[in-house]
Amino acid sequence: MSNHRLCTHDELPAWLKDNGFIISGYRPTFRHDTVAKCWGSVWGYFHNETINIHTHLWGAVFSIALLFLHALHHFSLFPSFLEPIAYHSIFSPPHIPSSLSSPSSSWSSANSSPNDWKDIVGFTIFLLSSVTCLTLSSSFHTLSCHSRHLAHKFNKLDYVGIVVMIVGSFLPALHYGFYCRPLWQLVYGSGISVLGAGAAYVVLAPHYATPAYRPVRTAIFLALGLSAVVPVAHGVAIYGVRILDLTMGVRWLALEGALYVTGALLYALRIPERFARGRFDLFGASHQIFHFFILLAALSHYVALRRAYTFWHMSAFTISSSSSSFSTERRTGTEAGMMALDVGRRAVCLGIDSWREAL
Ligand SMILES: [Zn+2]
Repeated sequence: MSNHRLCTHDELPAWLKDNGFIISGYRPTFRHDTVAKCWGSVWGYFHNETINIHTHLWGAVFSIALLFLHALHHFSLFPSFLEPIAYHSIFSPPHIPSSLSSPSSSWSSANSSPNDWKDIVGFTIFLLSSVTCLTLSSSFHTLSCHSRHLAHKFNKLDYVGIVVMIVGSFLPALHYGFYCRPLWQLVYGSGISVLGAGAAYVVLAPHYATPAYRPVRTAIFLALGLSAVVPVAHGVAIYGVRILDLTMGVRWLALEGALYVTGALLYALRIPERFARGRFDLFGASHQIFHFFILLAALSHYVALRRAYTFWHMSAFTISSSSSSFSTERRTGTEAGMMALDVGRRAVCLGIDSWREAL
């Protein structure tokens, strides 16, 4: 570490002073007045933004790798040595209660049904939104010491990245959660898109950048994050938690929400550094913990989507239902094709309401 490159909180210009509980480890602005010098600080030496930069930088790289692997899977080029991880049981929804399935049905082995374009678009939207959010965040932390102008600009882009991530997470989850209710897919999908566009506008428009609008900005972000509660509560009201866990992976979405809220609270309250000023300058500060929580929340969302995907692909069954029992017969391979997939899913839609009664 080259301490001579770093400075203390007291030595910072006023516009860069943010968290007085972090005393040292700052990059002095006058030594980082070009983008190249800021980029050099990513790799060259350790400072109090190093963890913030690298957590989201590698999170973005990981998201790009996932995108790539999804593409390989789509073109049947998926490397077999990765299959034990890619098809780990964590990506399968819980077993259907025995009262609902015949002993011969095999709900645990999926993945032979064809993708439809909505699956591909959904995963692509989510992974691209997470690449966008994590890249913009990492860039902001890299360039925050460059100049007041650039720090301000990238701070806004950091916020826009959060908006993109929220909307990009919402859309595929809605697709699976309201698979049998296209009207609600449309209502909630366009609702979050309009809200997201509004939030991005408020963040970017110079008019709203003044401190006077701080409550408006806070309210919009809060509304955007909390709006997830509405469709989830609606889904629970229609189907109940157990079915929504099968169709949407709702328990993993709840874990995601808990991770976001906990991370945001630690960040807002500046825990733990407020209890030991100067001790967490380089490692363990609230913002770094917040970054890790964002990564875990995104991972949790990915697991929820994969479980939902697996469920809807296992539903390429022919299902004959009475109000409380199902006999399922698996269709396999290309012979089943898209038509069987559709028929199977429609049958699940018809049956799902009676599942609830049977549970
Ligand atoms: Zn950050």
